[in-house]
Amino acid sequence: MGLDLSGKQYRKVPYEEKEALLEEVKEDLRFGDYMYGCYDCGICVAACPSARFYDFSPRKIAQSVAREDVDLFYVFLNDSVWDCSQCFSCDRCPRQNSPGGLITLMREVAVKHGLASAQEALEGYGRVVYKIMSTGTQVSPDMLQANAFPDWGPHVKDIAENLDVWRKALPPETLHTTEASWKVDEKTLIELYLIWHATGVMDMIKEVDEGLFMILQDVMEERLEDAGYDVTFD
Ligand code: SF4
Ligand code: SF4
Repeated sequence: MGLDLSGKQYRKVPYEEKEALLEEVKEDLRFGDYMYGCYDCGICVAACPSARFYDFSPRKIAQSVAREDVDLFYVFLNDSVWDCSQCFSCDRCPRQNSPGGLITLMREVAVKHGLASAQEALEGYGRVVYKIMSTGTQVSPDMLQANAFPDWGPHVKDIAENLDVWRKALPPETLHTTEASWKVDEKTLIELYLIWHATGVMDMIKEVDEGLFMILQDVMEERLEDAGYDVTFD
């Protein structure tokens, strides 16, 4: 079934509420770099991989914002923005728009306001977000276990058993760890925590996943305290 663009499904949401969200997107400092108006030419759609697989159109999203169609914007804010893979192939727009950038802004506003659609879209990513935000890196090599990846073949068992040896064979010293993708300097990690605190990233996480927020809060506050910072994430 295709997207219902009539806005009927969001009829109960007050118009002023939807309008305020559109204004918030437009007030972002980056907005002027992402939207100069739209020719409705569809070049972004031709370049967009997500448009091939989903009922998704960067052109329609750009148009809804350029025309300030509040109801349609709200439909896309809920039902479309999470289908974008953020590849920015649409940056070849002849009007110099960045529909992908515009979608980034829309996602941030959706998360900041804890929209149910954003919570649902991010539900499966808690573990990844926790890993990145607590350690500063992504998936760790010690997650590579034969029972977790049976379809990867028998060599996974060999690698898992000798993981520390394999890792030490890699030239950069920062990769000689099995608990993180690479060793993140303590100073860098503290700086990341402070940036996420100052820029409201933790507030956004609190809106969409309170449980994840609380776990991260414990880890970060303790580490910051050890480093001599009196910072709380309330
Ligand atoms: S950034 Fe999003 S909208 Fe742009 S081409 Fe990639 S998937 Fe499509
Ligand atoms: S955003 Fe750019 S490429 Fe896409 S329809 Fe509008 S003018 Fe064309």
